[in-house]
Amino acid sequence: MLTVDAYAAPSATEPLVKTTIERRDVGANDVLIEIAYSGICHSDIHTVRGEWGQIAYPQVVGHEIVGTVTEVGSAVTKHKVGDRVGVGCMVNSCGECENCLAGEEQYCLAGNTGTYAAVDRDGTITQGGYSTHVVVVEDFVLKVPESIPFEKAAPLLCAGITTYSPLAHWNAGPGKRVAVVGMGGLGHMAVKIAHAMGAEVTVLSQSLSKQEDGLRLGADHYYATSDEATFSELKNHFDLIINTVSASIDINAYLSLLRLDGTLVSVGAPAEPLPVGVFTLFGNRRTFAGSSIGGIRETQEMLDFCAEHDIAPETELISADYINEAYERVLSSDVRYRFVIDAATISA
Ligand code: NAP
Ligand code: ZN
Repeated sequence: MLTVDAYAAPSATEPLVKTTIERRDVGANDVLIEIAYSGICHSDIHTVRGEWGQIAYPQVVGHEIVGTVTEVGSAVTKHKVGDRVGVGCMVNSCGECENCLAGEEQYCLAGNTGTYAAVDRDGTITQGGYSTHVVVVEDFVLKVPESIPFEKAAPLLCAGITTYSPLAHWNAGPGKRVAVVGMGGLGHMAVKIAHAMGAEVTVLSQSLSKQEDGLRLGADHYYATSDEATFSELKNHFDLIINTVSASIDINAYLSLLRLDGTLVSVGAPAEPLPVGVFTLFGNRRTFAGSSIGGIRETQEMLDFCAEHDIAPETELISADYINEAYERVLSSDVRYRFVIDAATISA
């Protein structure tokens, strides 16, 4: 076992504190990664605060991880010492069910193993990326292209894939009008990726305070949802809406913005249900859908797409002792647009 430094939540209500955790010995199929950077996803906050259900404490979160391979197991073929790699939201799956065989391990019928707060194959609880090292099965380790700046790459492993996957699945591209609701970590990546795919992109944000940024990141239009006129002006307008909002919103108001056969995909994960009126769905034969992260093959495809299109997240690099403040800023939508922890500061 390897004892490593980490930042953990002691309970649902206390700030995260510096601690140590154990990483398992490197097994035949494992790689040991020295973590360089770790992103802060809103899911980390939902999880440690118990908003999605009870978890065991202390808990280390973080599922946007990039680092360097420092050791490989005897049977490892995909990665070697010195490789620049990434780990996202899952670290294992059954590998045998029809969804795993289809390369959609995130939908593993036995349940994928989350990077944190999940029961691992050995019965221990997985501990995430706010740490200096992690041991992961090689099949769940991604290659980070050299052209993506390392200190910016981490958020691609969750915010990037979670928006790329539905944009690709619902064919965002030339001639398609795509709206992104909420311009935070996921939302700003959705804007960049949808723009690179060739879609006409509109941001629907609570206010116009980030309008200049939105247009710079690739949006063609920007509207404030606090303005009632937005909903009448854009009625029956979009082919695809990606909802990234972490809180409950009036989903029917957004569904009414879909044109014929349009789809609203929720990737935002508020704890409360989003009640849908079927009559809103009847109009324009609309679809209300959800989407969870992305499979390993698609995550690599997203990383390569971002490298090819020169896409990197907008990040604010922080030291580990700033995590609790960063959480408060995420909660007040004061994030531009993803906090990334410099893992070197975790041991400081
Ligand atoms: P984030 O950075 O906090 O962004 C969420 C954005 O939603 C905010 O920046 C804000 O944008 C908007 N927003 C927040 N509160 C709002 C409210 N009360 N009403 C209207 N808009 C509000 O969070 P994130 O890391 O992008 O994550 C977003 C959500 O996706 C979270 O629930 C997270 O758990 C979930 N998630 C899901 C998956 C998946 O696989 N489906 C993966 C990762 C994350 P504006 O300021 O522009 O309005
Ligand atoms: Zn996430």
